[in-house]
Amino acid sequence: MSTGEAKPKLIRVEDLLQRTVYDVDHRAHIVVDSEKCAKCPKKPCTYLCPASCYVLVDDRIVFSYEGCLECGTCRVICPMDAISWNFPVSGKGVQYRFS
Ligand code: SF4
Repeated sequence: MSTGEAKPKLIRVEDLLQRTVYDVDHRAHIVVDSEKCAKCPKKPCTYLCPASCYVLVDDRIVFSYEGCLECGTCRVICPMDAISWNFPVSGKGVQYRFS
């Protein structure tokens, strides 16, 4: 027997992120000290960044800020204090779409 209530529509996180758009600033809002990164033993940013902004290439971290989701994870987990993190200037960066 129906209660008459509409079931909420389930939306996957992956589907939501596909709607995400960016207005990328030419100035990087995150700056990485590559000398400190080179001394980092585990490089957690390479596997904890949800946007894969940190990629290991020949044992060196290659960083790109353009796809950053502004979650702040890299700022918190970097054991080398190698990341200078700011939000993009107003109006720039990620723009989430929830509908
Ligand atoms: S703020 Fe989040 S999405 Fe952006 S680079 Fe850091 S971990 Fe990746």
